[in-house]
Amino acid sequence: MSDSRKPQTVIPIQPLFASDPKVYPRSIRGVFQRWRWVFAWLTQIVFYGLCWLPWNGRQAVLFDLDARRFYVFDFVLWPQDIIYLAVLLVLSALALFLFTTVAGRLWCGYTCPQTVYTELFLWIEHHIEGDRPQRMKLDAAPWSARKLGLKVAKHGAWLVLALWTGFTFVGYFTPIRELASAMLNLSLSGWETFWVLFYGAATYGNAGFMREQMCKYICPYAQFQFVMFDPDTLIVAYDEKRGEPRGGRSKKVVPAEKGLGDCIDCSICVQVCPTGIDIRDGLQLECIGCAACIDACDQVMDRMNYPRGLIRYSTENALKNRSSRATIIKRSMRPRVLIYSVVFLSLLAVTVWTLAMRVPVKLDIERDRAALATETTEGSIENAFQLQVINASEQPRLFAVTVAGIDSIHLSAPLELVVPAAASASATARVRVEPGALHGGSHPIRFTVVDVDRPEISVTEDARFWMP
Ligand code: SF4
Ligand code: SF4
Repeated sequence: MSDSRKPQTVIPIQPLFASDPKVYPRSIRGVFQRWRWVFAWLTQIVFYGLCWLPWNGRQAVLFDLDARRFYVFDFVLWPQDIIYLAVLLVLSALALFLFTTVAGRLWCGYTCPQTVYTELFLWIEHHIEGDRPQRMKLDAAPWSARKLGLKVAKHGAWLVLALWTGFTFVGYFTPIRELASAMLNLSLSGWETFWVLFYGAATYGNAGFMREQMCKYICPYAQFQFVMFDPDTLIVAYDEKRGEPRGGRSKKVVPAEKGLGDCIDCSICVQVCPTGIDIRDGLQLECIGCAACIDACDQVMDRMNYPRGLIRYSTENALKNRSSRATIIKRSMRPRVLIYSVVFLSLLAVTVWTLAMRVPVKLDIERDRAALATETTEGSIENAFQLQVINASEQPRLFAVTVAGIDSIHLSAPLELVVPAAASASATARVRVEPGALHGGSHPIRFTVVDVDRPEISVTEDARFWMP
């Protein structure tokens, strides 16, 4: 046999990426679905509404990056307040550890923006194209005037919601009323237009198309949260002991007599799942803990006259040991949780106390770089400092500057500054010391800035006086 007639070994080509089939979640009603809508409403009322709330004659929450000032209700935060941002990040991380250890993925299932916007987009899709079977049929059907009309209506509604979301998001960084009026007058700046379109496109893409892919492949929280899970963490779980062996049967059949468990293998729990997984295969990374499968299965159990809870919120230990709800609650108070709670609550208390005690004035001191020290005509030694006084309150204030720390130290002339609300003012402070009062070198001194009308509002900062 010649080489060319020998049978060839065919090596199958494996694709680098396998595209996931599109998920068509079936709509569902139930206790947890209502809770998901409650959280969707609450979070979206806050998100879409807060930026319109006026406060002290300005927007209540505004992150003014140009002016490098963050307004959060009564607080005006400056770059010098970056510590609060750092503390906020630490608090968020601790809250995440604590919450995930106790309650698993409740955040993902109820309040994560990806979940909430997917839910809103699905609601629109459901009302325009119909429920799962109609949507699957429509997608499989050839293009027609009806299909085109439905798709245009759906994408039009999605785009309106997405652009409104992008506009609202930008409205936290640019005063939203000015943004709205610029938009109506078609005079948005290039950057404003870009960011509105960018966030609008991100919402449209993530909630309309990416959906569960974001949770499965992109969200970092989904990838590492299992590290925080332990056998007592609350999860959405299928009770295998009760459900298996699964199988179809009529309502009149007593499962035990047929050697069956309570799962009738109707697959409705799979059809309602927004990530398209089968919870009966056990805990999976793709499960966002939305509990749609609990609502679905409870309805099936009701129809079959079986007790509810074949799929339920539980823990690995509780399923294994058939533990009661009281035991689950008791075990949630485990050492790891208590440590996280103590650290989180302590840091939160310190932060709240620090914010409440925060003095609304800040002082930045810079030494005059032109000369370390000069001798005045009277023979005193003079150092010059550039002071920047920041008024972090929303009333204009008159501040007086004093200096101390060395005998005979004084300012060349009384120094007062009027600082407008939420603004800063600079002045040069000329500090003098009598000759011979100090040996040569650098000496610690203190500047104090005090509100003339309210002396309890003051700040003191250290500096150094240079004696030649
Ligand atoms: S909905 Fe319940 S009964 Fe139906 S397949 Fe899922 S677990 Fe089984
Ligand atoms: S398995 Fe259940 S809880 Fe998990 S994502 Fe699917 S429907 Fe939601």
